[in-house]
Amino acid sequence: MHLIDTHVQMDGLPLADLEAMAAAGITAVIADAAGGPDKATSSQAAFHFFDRTLGGETNRAAEFFIDVYVLVGINMNAVPSDYERILEALPSYLNRDRVVGVGEVGLEPRSKTCPDLSKQEEILKAELRLAKEYNKAVVLHLPLTERTKWIEWYFKLIEEAKLDPGKVVIIHADSATTKMITDLGCNASISVLPMRRITPEDGARIVADSDINRVLVESDTRLRDRSDPLGVPRTALQMRRLGFTEKDITQVFYDNPRQVFNLG
Ligand SMILES: [Zn+2]
Repeated sequence: MHLIDTHVQMDGLPLADLEAMAAAGITAVIADAAGGPDKATSSQAAFHFFDRTLGGETNRAAEFFIDVYVLVGINMNAVPSDYERILEALPSYLNRDRVVGVGEVGLEPRSKTCPDLSKQEEILKAELRLAKEYNKAVVLHLPLTERTKWIEWYFKLIEEAKLDPGKVVIIHADSATTKMITDLGCNASISVLPMRRITPEDGARIVADSDINRVLVESDTRLRDRSDPLGVPRTALQMRRLGFTEKDITQVFYDNPRQVFNLG
């Protein structure tokens, strides 16, 4: 059984976590290099996260037979004053084989580094254009409140950028928003971690009510904040308890990620 955790923040993740993930069947992860444990305060800091994720962190995970694929972009909570330099450099990263998408990016009304939502939207539009041009996936952050509003907003931008909704992941979906996201043709991603108050049992139940061809499950695990590096295998276990077949589990945890992120 191969499991892919489609959202982790690799930077500084303890070796014990990587070992536990590997032992529980995780063979690949999608690492979000846009949101390191310490938020980027300058373009240089952002490049440092990208390079470290693509270099040392990828090598560290390889010791545990975990393949690392990487997302790059400007996290809406960490917009440095010289963010234009990141936008200029993104094509050189998107050209790399291991970089499979732009993310986690999007809109966040509580951002301290960029409270101006129209500026956030301008940055996001530039990132969506690049994702389209380089044929990469996009991982969009769903804020905690007024969730319908943000999904509609994202869908308008996806249409404007002429992106394939099948290449778009909306992350932090819950029981109230998953159907809306998948009905639009996008992928709903369930972040199973204590900080978001989604347990593995909750995650399995949400999948049970969903179009399983358009749903992803991830741990959003990281060095700081309350997370669970085993959020994905624990959710797979709960799905077995609900009667999901091995074929269904392979669909959600292996086939869907490979298709959305074009993994080789
Ligand atoms: Zn997020």
